[in-house]
Amino acid sequence: MGGYKTWLREGNYIAGAWVNADSGETIDVTNPATGDVIGTIPKSGTAETARAIDAASAAFPDFAATDLMSRVSLLWKLHDALMDNQADLAKLLTVEMGKPLPEAMGEIAIGAQYVRWFAEEARRAKGEIVPPGVNGRRILVTRHPVGVVGMITPWNFPSSMLARKLAPALSVGCTVVAKPATQTPYSGLAWAALAEEVGYPKGVVNIVTGSASQIGGEIMARPEVRKVTFTGSTEIGKLLIRQSADTVKKVSMELGGNAPFIVFDDADLDAAVEGAMVSKFRNAGQTCVCANRLYVQAGIHDAFVAKLAEKTAALKVGDGTQGGVEQGPMVDMQAVEKVEEFVSDARAKGGEVAVGGSRHALGGSFFEPTVITGATQDMMFATDEIFGPLAPVFKFETEAEVIAMANATEFGLACYAYTSDIARVFRLNEGLEYGMIGINSGLITTPEAPFGGVKESGMGKEGGSQGLDDYLDTKYVCIDGL
Ligand code: NAP
Repeated sequence: MGGYKTWLREGNYIAGAWVNADSGETIDVTNPATGDVIGTIPKSGTAETARAIDAASAAFPDFAATDLMSRVSLLWKLHDALMDNQADLAKLLTVEMGKPLPEAMGEIAIGAQYVRWFAEEARRAKGEIVPPGVNGRRILVTRHPVGVVGMITPWNFPSSMLARKLAPALSVGCTVVAKPATQTPYSGLAWAALAEEVGYPKGVVNIVTGSASQIGGEIMARPEVRKVTFTGSTEIGKLLIRQSADTVKKVSMELGGNAPFIVFDDADLDAAVEGAMVSKFRNAGQTCVCANRLYVQAGIHDAFVAKLAEKTAALKVGDGTQGGVEQGPMVDMQAVEKVEEFVSDARAKGGEVAVGGSRHALGGSFFEPTVITGATQDMMFATDEIFGPLAPVFKFETEAEVIAMANATEFGLACYAYTSDIARVFRLNEGLEYGMIGINSGLITTPEAPFGGVKESGMGKEGGSQGLDDYLDTKYVCIDGL
């Protein structure tokens, strides 16, 4: 073997062993660029998940009691293992998911940065000694790992979405049962292979593949699982929140987005176009923080559209493993059909296709990078997440008008604005109902900052010092009679 296959695992990882589904049944995993079968994964369900939860529960007391520095040192090793194998892990990611190799390299690197960040942050997971109201008393506030954590992740960032959950959990002594997306399971399973290689004790990291409803159902039902962290669609997030009620689990939810990308007349035009390109077309538009609606002020609108159209038309589409490719295939044909629906809806309501608009000549799930002008608030993408390489441009006149349009969605994950007016920046910060705001930047994800949304985009934060909070319970000790 060698190359990316070094990290390709076709089993569940439960209690430190690679195992098949009890039934022996498997699911094929295909490369979206070629349609070729890359390998198989176990079609597991309730029973295998139950054993993974048992293993994580059994491993928890000892792992939670390890020295902080031994957990930190394991994370350092995990970071180094990721970076030492960055190229192979990135190739595996591209082959199963489709994104261009440079983007996959970036995803592995940012995952490693999250690992390093939480290795550092766990050392600052401080409690408090609080001034008591009466003499003779002391009040201590201490923080403790929540226990077994269930993790469910999507296909669009199959490696880094798990990094942002695994790293904080492991840093504070939680144990894990994770379920990666069925379309892109190998980057998730690679985390188990890496954890095994760097010496995590058996049962600390468990990964199960197969039936989402059965694996998810067992994770949600079992009282030993004290917290569930989910990244994926708002629809499934709501289902999991409902299911969490019976055992009153902590939940954190990184759900869908519908990011407005606002360009004011006073913006640096080239920077705004550059930011729009990276925010819109990265990962073929399949990111939760993707620019979904481009609002451009009337005075700069035509110049912006001309440049955006020129750059969009020049994007090189192809198999992400090939050099120079800037946009890979979409994840599957259903995703293609969804983008087609957005295009025809916009056309029917008066939108004009300035670039692209159709399936790509390469066939399969390749789609042309697309710009639509004349977008209006009654078009589907004004409220729905596109999740594809389609940039709708809306024209607006005033700041108040664009803030109202930007907020007219149930989502509240990321938004962006390009302007050179500092006073406006503060008004936007106060007026835009979003968890993250990029000012003059189209790329804002970084381990130092709390990533997460408001409204129906979710709850809880990943990254920043806040990223540890969900993995810790707070206890208070009152010592009296002193
Ligand atoms: P999805 O359909 O919700 O799937 C996400 C995960 O949930 C997958 O592992 C899936 O398993 C699993 N799942 C499906 N049904 C389930 C059930 N009944 N119980 C438990 N788990 C279940 O979302 P997706 O299409 O993969 O991802 C795209 C969505 O994720 C978009 O809305 C995007 O905005 C959002 N997202 C958000 C963030 C963020 O940080 N806010 C980041 C990335 C993506 P299967 O694969 O087996 O179906």
